[in-house]
Amino acid sequence: MAQGDFKKYRIATIGSHTALQILKGAKDEGFETIVVCQKDQRKPYESYRVADEIIEIEKFKDFFEIEQQLIERNAIIIPHGSFVSYLGPQRVQQLKAMHYGTKAILEWESDRTKEREWLLNSDLRLPKIFKNPDDIDRPVIVKFHGAKGGLGYFIANSPNEFKQRIDEYPEEKDYAIQEYIVGVPMYAHYFYSRLTGELEIMSFDKRYESNADSIGRIAAKDQIDVGIKTSYTITGNIPVVIRESLLPQLFAMGERVVEESRKITDGGLFGPFCLEMIIDKDLQFWVFEISARIVAGTNLYIKGSPYTDLRYDVPMSTGRRIARDIKEAADGGKIEEVLG
Ligand code: ATP
Repeated sequence: MAQGDFKKYRIATIGSHTALQILKGAKDEGFETIVVCQKDQRKPYESYRVADEIIEIEKFKDFFEIEQQLIERNAIIIPHGSFVSYLGPQRVQQLKAMHYGTKAILEWESDRTKEREWLLNSDLRLPKIFKNPDDIDRPVIVKFHGAKGGLGYFIANSPNEFKQRIDEYPEEKDYAIQEYIVGVPMYAHYFYSRLTGELEIMSFDKRYESNADSIGRIAAKDQIDVGIKTSYTITGNIPVVIRESLLPQLFAMGERVVEESRKITDGGLFGPFCLEMIIDKDLQFWVFEISARIVAGTNLYIKGSPYTDLRYDVPMSTGRRIARDIKEAADGGKIEEVLG
């Protein structure tokens, strides 16, 4: 338990999603880094020189074949969106290597019913869910579970319209009918450290989705003539700063989510997470999802964001903030505080 103890640990993640940022942040904090990547995806990790070691696997599903190598290297795995989606929340629970973050929270995040319960108990405003299509009395967005990047989601305005549209997807049985909120999307990137007991707002983004973000480039008449159907395939992220007067509410919302997470899991949520919401014209926040890990929108801020710039005297990405949390835990003899 001394300064420099952190060097016993290495930081590892799989090569996708936010790996460049995580590894760069870890190197900036003085860690050695490992990336586990698919053979055909090695190039960026070599080119950007963020990985001290590259471990190749054929497919991400073969991850467990190399887990022992990570254990031998005293590596701490940083989970991200692709890590959780390639392994699945159940297999993440089986990891034996060190893992940053509370694994149990992933179950709450990945189960739509549990996620809703968590967010509602955190006193957040959520779009209404219609269990019975006959009750549709306002615009709704129909989301298929596991739809990659929102492909195939559709909007309906009435029970009849829903029935017509759902017939186009005879295979799909697992979907949610959610009230469609008219407003702007906002993704708030948070970081909570158990060591400091403090919640930070790191940054914000909005997504650049195809074709939703380009439909306005042609006239409404042409949209109808060509029969365009809206999709939300994510292609990238766009930076946003939020009206400053909204920040107090956003801090309070994040704090309630962390507080509630302690009631539903041992240890609760810590590290990066994201509240995904629509803000309507009356400045109400409608949260439609939580990601209980680093989100790809933070890739905008490898050099820090306008918000982290206020708080830190070095460029502080979310990836680097994770590494700093681990470093402070290790140097303080409290490494278990960041593992789960
Ligand atoms: P995932 O992270 O699981 O891929 P996501 O974060 O892309 O999901 P989705 O729930 O798939 O979010 O939503 C896709 C798009 O639809 C987003 O652009 C979001 O702004 C929009 N959207 C989602 N729910 C609503 C809603 N209730 N009202 C209005 N727009 C919504």
